[in-house]
Amino acid sequence: MASYPPISPLPTTRRQLIGALQNAQDASSVFDLAVVGGGATGLGVALDAASRGLKVVLVEANDFAKGTSSRSTKLVHGGVRYLARGNIGLVREALHERSTLLRNAPHIAQPLAFIVPAYQWWESAFYGLGLKMYDALAGAAGLGPTTLLSRSQTHKALPTVRMQGLRGGVQYWDGQFNDAQLAIALARTAAREGALLVNYMKASRLLFTDDKVSGLACEDVLTGLPYEIHARCVVNATGVWVDALRAQDGQIQQMVAPSQGVHMVVDAKFLPGQQALMIPKTSDGRVLFAVPWLGKVILGTTDTPREDLAIEPFAFEEEVNFILREAARYLQVAPQRSDVKSIWVGLRPLVKPPHDEGGPTQALSREHTVLVSRSGLVTVTGGKWTTYRAMAEDVLAHCADAGLLPQRASRTDHLPLVGAEPTDRSPQSLSAVQGLHSYGSEQSWVAQLPGHDVELTPGLTVAMVRFAARHEYAVHVEDVLARRSRLLFLDAALAVQLAEVVGRVLHEETGLDPDVAGFVQLAAQYQL
Ligand SMILES: Cc1cc2nc3c(=O)[nH]c(=O)nc-3n(C[C@H](O)[C@H](O)[C@H](O)COP(=O)(O)OP(=O)(O)OC[C@H]3O[C@@H](n4cnc5c(N)ncnc54)[C@H](O)[C@@H]3O)c2cc1C
Repeated sequence: MASYPPISPLPTTRRQLIGALQNAQDASSVFDLAVVGGGATGLGVALDAASRGLKVVLVEANDFAKGTSSRSTKLVHGGVRYLARGNIGLVREALHERSTLLRNAPHIAQPLAFIVPAYQWWESAFYGLGLKMYDALAGAAGLGPTTLLSRSQTHKALPTVRMQGLRGGVQYWDGQFNDAQLAIALARTAAREGALLVNYMKASRLLFTDDKVSGLACEDVLTGLPYEIHARCVVNATGVWVDALRAQDGQIQQMVAPSQGVHMVVDAKFLPGQQALMIPKTSDGRVLFAVPWLGKVILGTTDTPREDLAIEPFAFEEEVNFILREAARYLQVAPQRSDVKSIWVGLRPLVKPPHDEGGPTQALSREHTVLVSRSGLVTVTGGKWTTYRAMAEDVLAHCADAGLLPQRASRTDHLPLVGAEPTDRSPQSLSAVQGLHSYGSEQSWVAQLPGHDVELTPGLTVAMVRFAARHEYAVHVEDVLARRSRLLFLDAALAVQLAEVVGRVLHEETGLDPDVAGFVQLAAQYQL
């Protein structure tokens, strides 16, 4: 990686963002590209385009990554199970992207060993062979060799795994990351490349000139004030919500079949250590993970078709029971409802095949789709976090092919994200509690702020809240406690206890209403 001088973090105060948007009101000021949606997909597109030298604006109706992009299993993976379905191209691309992300954001994404325990005589050989193929596909992008483990080696790696009937296991390598942190890093890197990104700014209407999409009518969600954005190209990257914008463009056939996934978080004592547990086939044929993450363990997930598209979906009782029941089959001490520190739900934007008859969402493709409508609206959805960068390249290629943007080469393959500039400290494992180390090369900026020595809870200082307000687009308590720090996702009750003090610091910084009450109400949904 090239050596970079320390770059001072850009300010992201509301006044500056709105000021920049206001300056762009004048119709003579036209953006090359306007992106709607600040999740993995939209942020990836904004960064790719801005780093090609294009004039880019992105609007997000909520906070960045408030949608699906903060609710993933947090794996940077090739997708072993897609290999089982013979989808070699998808796996190979994701494996390439896995190593690209680990290189460009080593403070956010790291390798992780996964162990598949074997209870049947055939399992070690069967999964071992499949995972060796996975290694072979990764080639030079491999993170470590797949190895067969004896019963005692499996026990040593996973001391709390159920021993009754255990024969051995298979260890393989993939990656894990902090999804919301990556989203903020993408936003900030895109801003560093010249893009204007505004959260809490809803695209309420598409604008048309001579039947071609020419911009967006937007509403500031915090003030209700209207803004207009004029752009040569508009990309709809609104995840499971793409069909709403497509409908305004006259596209009535639905593109997305949403499927919800539930995760629950328990204390590290249920799976101490640094390795993750992977169950390739649960009692109903799904994959289940138990993953050490930021000092806790994530259990999940489910795959349940869902028609309504709430920004905060709730878990079904069957999903909670399913995860607890399956975890109990593989762990010596079964987590109970009372052990669950946080429960969160995300909606997968799975792309419907044409003439979809409905059916299990597990069978739907995980690939992304890009469509350019007759009026020039570019819609992208599907895919996964791991491949956000490749998806962005594909979107830009479609825009260029449609004559909406100039042909220019992508630069993101070797573009380090904010915080990734080389430091003398090597990144700490993501199984450790989040802390100053999570800021990578920006640690010293955070450590200089007032309140760096005032710890609100291990891993969260007053200075970090100030940094979130000054440089990471945070406005509300939720932005800090759910996505800059991940406390809501790790321990919802503790997050509630900190809401008042975080709100006070935020208000001091921004002068805006930090919406403490809204956060407390939301956090109730994250507790069982
Ligand atoms: C349970 C689960 C587990 C997953 N696990 C993994 C994993 O381990 N690894 C992996 O690689 N992938 C994983 N994924 C997939 C990955 O999380 C998603 O593919 C990705 O986050 C989708 O990002 P997106 O930007 O398309 O959608 P979103 O993150 O939902 O972003 C869309 C954004 O658009 C905004 N928006 C909507 N309408 C408007 C509007 N009118 N104006 C402005 N903004 C608007 C929304 O507020 C939202 O923030 C998982 C997904 C789920 C559901």
